[in-house]
This record gives sequence, C-alpha cells and structure tokens, in this order.
Amino acid sequence: STTSFQTSWRQRVDDAGAAAEACRGVGEVANYIPALRDVAPDRFGIAVANLDGQIVSYGDANDRFSVQSLSKVFVLVQGYRTWGDEIWRRVGQFPSSNPFNSIVELELEHGIPRNPFLNSGALAIADSLVSRHVSMESSIVTLLRELSGSAEVDYNQTVAESEFRCADRNIAAAYLMKGHGNFANPVADVVRSYCAVCAIEASCTELARASLFLANRGICPGTGKRIVPRRTAQQVCALMLTTGTYEHSGRTAFAIGLPTKSGVGGGIIAVIPNQGTICAWSPRLDSTGNSVRAMAALENLSAAACLSIFG
Ligand code: GLU
Repeated sequence: STTSFQTSWRQRVDDAGAAAEACRGVGEVANYIPALRDVAPDRFGIAVANLDGQIVSYGDANDRFSVQSLSKVFVLVQGYRTWGDEIWRRVGQFPSSNPFNSIVELELEHGIPRNPFLNSGALAIADSLVSRHVSMESSIVTLLRELSGSAEVDYNQTVAESEFRCADRNIAAAYLMKGHGNFANPVADVVRSYCAVCAIEASCTELARASLFLANRGICPGTGKRIVPRRTAQQVCALMLTTGTYEHSGRTAFAIGLPTKSGVGGGIIAVIPNQGTICAWSPRLDSTGNSVRAMAALENLSAAACLSIFG
C-alpha cells in the first residue's frame, strides 16, 4: 500500500540525501559542453519509485536536468523495438575500460562499438533509427513522455546546438564507423539528432517512472503496455550493470550492486528488479564522468536497504 511504501522508504531516502550532503562541493560539473557549465553545481535530488508508480523523493527531485547519456538506455530500447536482435549486429555487449567518448577500440574492433552505452554505440543505434517519417529525437521524446506519464518532457534546443558545436569526437567516431560500413546516414544529421536526445531534460521523478518497465519485466506499469520482451529488459539491465557507468562500472557493481546508468548531466538511474527504480541527480562529476553525490546516495541506499541483486 501507499502508506507502507512511504513508511519504509522515507527515512532511508532522507538518510541517503544526508550521506550525499557529506560530499557537497566535491567534483566538477561537465565543462566540455558550454551549456552544461552554467548549471547550479550543488543541486541534489533523489526519487525512488515502486512498481505502482508511487514516489518517495528528496531535495530537487522535481527539477529537470540534462539527461545526457541516460538517454542511451531509451535509444537502445527504441533500437531493439525497431530492429529486434538485429541491433546486435551494430553494437556489442562488452565492457570498456576507456572513457565514453573514446574511439581507440572502435578502430581495433572494425567499427563495431563495444557496447550501446558508449557514445559510439549510441550513435550506431541512432543511425539505425533515422527514418524519413519521424525524427530520431521526436521518437525518443515521445517514448519518454509515454513512460514517464509527463507530456512536458522535451529537449533543450540551446543545449543541443551547443553540444553539436562541440561534437568533434562524436563526429570522428561516426566517420570511423562509416569507414567500416557500420553507418548508413549522413554523419552530421545523425550526430545532430543524437545531441538533441542527449539534451532532453527530465526530473528524477520522471526518470524513475520512465525506467520502471526495466524493473517490471519489460512492461510499463503506468500504461500496462509491454515496451520490450522480458528477456530484453533483463539484457538491458545486464548491460547497465556491466557498462552503465563508463569505466567505473565494475566498481559500481561492487559498491551498489544494481544495474545503473549515468550521464554527464549528473543523473544516475538504478533499477531494482521486481521492486522499482531510483534516480539520483547532482551535477558535480568525478573523473570518470559520474555524479559524486548521486553515486554516494545510491551507495548509501543500497547498503541500508540491502538492494544488491546479489542477495
Ligand atoms: N552528450 C554527451 C556526449 O556525447 C553524452 C556524454 C555522457 O553523458 O556520457 O559527449
């Protein structure tokens, strides 16, 4: 019931917020995209959602922020919905010890990105989603609106343009894939759409709700609609566990023990299979591009509520 969910999580979420408070001021906001530099660096929010869509939140949980790489989860899901298992011809399922924007492995692996959560991997899937009928960005925005139940979710045009102007590495990755035959459409068009998707803005509450289908065997609890097969939901979670927080992923599995995905806007989504989701956000990042305070809050919450998937 609503009351028991509130009672069991209220104190834990407040404690996780307090734990994150201890690292206020640690880390730097992403500065490689000018539009991300201007965000207030010490904001912090966290939202826990259960499978009924009930929320326990703390701090700035209803403020929208730039989702950045969190969008890669939804791009992958849309890629799967469009192509089924064919999508795995374009992108692998292997962890990487290189940063999210790295292209070194791409050359060694013949233009097939190691996983869908590297920029190169998301770009390959974005390329597969380009259609004449609907732009890639509007298909992802529509999906997020449906999953979050919030019609106002949208991308920020200024951030998208600012990001496109700094997209040299992403453009390089796309051309490298094109050189290997793993890219069909004009690079600038796809990178522009990819930047718009990274520039989607949503709150912790909205993102926790939007991810619930991953905790619910592929079915969105809000609408009752199947988004992906159960096995695909399991596989997306497996990739989140092994690759979702960049080269920090092994350490995240060790410290938190949940499938997670981070973005350089400072957001982190975590899935608690068969129970619910968590989204934490704070803009200051560590050297691997993960939010310092969101990570601290998740670590605290996972330990206190015994959330690790490893029992
Ligand atoms: N839009 C960012 C980029 O392509 C995403 C990075 C991230 O959040 O990991 O560089």
